[in-house]
Amino acid sequence: MEVAETVSSVRGLVEAARRQGKTIGLVPTMGALHIGHVSLIEAAVQQTDFVVVSIFVNPTQFCPGEDLAKYPRPFDADCEICRKAGADVVFAPTADQMYPAENLTWVTVEKLTEPLCGQFRPGHFRGVTTVCAKLFNIVGPDVAFFGQKDAQQAIVIKRMVADLNMPLEIVICPTVREPDGLAVSSRNQYLNPEQRKDATYVYKSLQKCQEMIDAGVTDTQKILTEMRRVLQQVPSIEIEYVSIVDVGTLQDIDKIAGKILAAVAVNIGPARLIDNILVDSNR
Ligand code: AMP
Repeated sequence: MEVAETVSSVRGLVEAARRQGKTIGLVPTMGALHIGHVSLIEAAVQQTDFVVVSIFVNPTQFCPGEDLAKYPRPFDADCEICRKAGADVVFAPTADQMYPAENLTWVTVEKLTEPLCGQFRPGHFRGVTTVCAKLFNIVGPDVAFFGQKDAQQAIVIKRMVADLNMPLEIVICPTVREPDGLAVSSRNQYLNPEQRKDATYVYKSLQKCQEMIDAGVTDTQKILTEMRRVLQQVPSIEIEYVSIVDVGTLQDIDKIAGKILAAVAVNIGPARLIDNILVDSNR
């Protein structure tokens, strides 16, 4: 496995693989890799011939006051995880490589970036879409792999690719969870043991939503009230949002019908945690 730190070096490695007729997979990450990331790398290894994992803590997707400075950066351990998972290249650019000059060009996906996390993280999705567009232009993958864990991000990226005719496929991989249901996240390490226990209530609230839909409840407000009740059992949980939205538009819905996305964002101590489930109410 090679480690490339510059745009030109990763391009050289990808061009050589292309000359051998290989298809290229890209897994964009911010590092602090865990089994969720590994599942994406493994999917990339299965579905493409040459896998690039990017590790870049992208400053433009952090809002003022967020955890950019303290975001974990265990680079050697990350490389080892990538190697074991079968990656061919780790692309780990410096911020100067990615943003050599003041960035004057941004990619903005409208509407889909306004609800859910968009309300609380102004500029976040603009940073995400811009860095992903840059990574797609630098690496030129046939397929890029993202996690369902960040449901809104996945929907926004897919829309950017469709709207701008970017020549790649986006594959969304299922959320990997701890045995007690907590979605695996690099930010879980900010939690102390007590907060870590409390964090299980995030998925419990989503399970409550699933149970109620399975039982035939269609009134969204009723479901949201019960989901909030689950979260409010835990004093350390500060709810940011609890939403049930249409998967196409991400707009709130009054009645459960067809495919819906239930999404939760909370703060527990120093960690902002998000999770979601997709529910097909017709099944
Ligand atoms: P991050 O490093 O947090 O920016 O995440 C990089 C990619 O890994 C994103 O596409 C995430 O959606 C995905 N990811 C993060 N956590 C998980 C998880 N628990 N299960 C599946 N994918 C995940």
